Amino acid sequence: MNEHSTQQKVALVTGANKGIGRATAEQLAALGMTVLIGTRNRQRGEEAAAALRRAGGDAYAVTLDVTDAAGVREAAKWIEDRFGHLDVLVNNAGISGSGQVSPEDAVDQIPSIVDLEMVRAVFETNVFGVISVTNAMLPLLRHSPAPRIVNLSSGVASLTIAGDPNGPLAGLPASAAYAPSKTALNALTVQYANELRKDGILVNLADPGYVDTDINNHQGYLTPAQAAAVVVRLTTLGEDGPTGGFFNQDGPLPW
Ligand code: NAP
Repeated sequence: MNEHSTQQKVALVTGANKGIGRATAEQLAALGMTVLIGTRNRQRGEEAAAALRRAGGDAYAVTLDVTDAAGVREAAKWIEDRFGHLDVLVNNAGISGSGQVSPEDAVDQIPSIVDLEMVRAVFETNVFGVISVTNAMLPLLRHSPAPRIVNLSSGVASLTIAGDPNGPLAGLPASAAYAPSKTALNALTVQYANELRKDGILVNLADPGYVDTDINNHQGYLTPAQAAAVVVRLTTLGEDGPTGGFFNQDGPLPW
């Protein structure tokens, strides 16, 4: 028997010790949800959870490296034992990979100089990690009356936008890792949404915009709190809400 009421909404946010994940966790806690701070570093998770509790939230740290399948399963077991269900999963943890292409390179050299190990590491976290966490948490989500999954994507994932030579992303350095990983995440999310539609599990993608966090050396202009708003909105969709969609704060984005 777990100690929490099955009525109490429980949300897991991966990579919630800082940046957009942390701001998302804060906003979900402010809505009254119990928030599980998923982090690969236990101490950073405990500190973030303690800070949220000091602010009046109900928060717990869960050690969870999205690239460690056994650890992810252990985290799911802990959530099962403690809470018995999960209402919201935010797959937020992500990495950019160092520099996308090596600093000295021209864009047209990608195939010869790209660091494949880096590309693999980025896909391991941004794509395969999402599969691992989602699959481990699905049995818990199925115990919720209104399960919601939100995956953190990016405008660079959009082939329509990225492929437009006059579009807003023209001029960005070529990316063999981060942008393709997020495009793959978009494709993956559509597959999950289609599969889970019949079960009432809504699965959507959030593009948070260009946000002032460590991932881009604080080049972004939105605050994490501003960015988290679209994520939170997608975690609280009504039962007639969309699934398999790709949204930023202004609405749907092209694929
Ligand atoms: P951030 O401040 O660097 O935060 C990334 C978080 O992911 C950190 O908590 C990090 O943990 C965690 N993480 C990385 N690898 C992990 C792993 N293997 N297992 C568990 N956690 C892991 O970056 P952010 O900007 O908040 O990014 C959050 C998400 O938004 C990412 O998916 C990113 O791609 C996406 N996004 C960001 C922007 C932007 O402009 N910032 C734009 C579009 C999309 P550690 O502290 O342990 O490293």
